[in-house]
Amino acid sequence: MAKVPPNAGKSWTPSAVKELKTLELRMGLSVGAFDVNLCPLDPVSKKRLEKLISQALEWQPQTIWFDHFRFNGHWEAMRKNNLEGEHLPCKWCRGKNKVKELIKLASWLKSRVKERTEIGFFAVPFKAEEVPPVIEKMGQDCQQLGEIFDIVCPMLYHRMIEKPDSYITEFVSFLNRSTSKPILPIIQIKDLPDDLPDEYKKSEIEQAFQWASKSPSAGVAWFCWDDAVETGKTKIIKKLFNDVI
Ligand SMILES: [Zn+2]
Repeated sequence: MAKVPPNAGKSWTPSAVKELKTLELRMGLSVGAFDVNLCPLDPVSKKRLEKLISQALEWQPQTIWFDHFRFNGHWEAMRKNNLEGEHLPCKWCRGKNKVKELIKLASWLKSRVKERTEIGFFAVPFKAEEVPPVIEKMGQDCQQLGEIFDIVCPMLYHRMIEKPDSYITEFVSFLNRSTSKPILPIIQIKDLPDDLPDEYKKSEIEQAFQWASKSPSAGVAWFCWDDAVETGKTKIIKKLFNDVI
């Protein structure tokens, strides 16, 4: 668990980083691994990733988080295994095993950062045996990726995927068993997607936080972003984090 710094949720700036270093907190930096409009196997994707890693390493974070480390598809809106917006076979990936190719890229990532930082990825919050497109379409095999990455962050926006809050702990335990790596669940603190009226109550957030904190969780992260900082909600989260220190 970590105390919430005043600049939480804001973009990284030299002054924000200086402030974090003063607080002696671990710093993680998130980068979008693959552009949604590019095939991960397009050589342009790897060049782009190379540049992002170089830029990220300049900040000397303890962790670099790779978002969207998968083939494209709107898992957030997935109903009955129907994946919209999936990446269609192109000249780079046609006939290739998506899982194997992503594992190769993950190994390359690991060798690229060497011992300078740990690496994590954001996991689609479905078990592949229940939702096969996670592996078949998006190529995200958490068990195999977990052998390479140091930490995994499942995107457990349980309300958005219509699961009970207990699913947060259930999925964290499942990933921990599958990967033997630390699992840091990220939870929602408002209703998603953004065009939904926010009916997520304080007591429900607190309950979700408790589920997310349960063993074997490595901590709790929450999802927010610059242009939609959850005014009012941030205070709730600060209190939850500060109470458990
Ligand atoms: Zn492709």
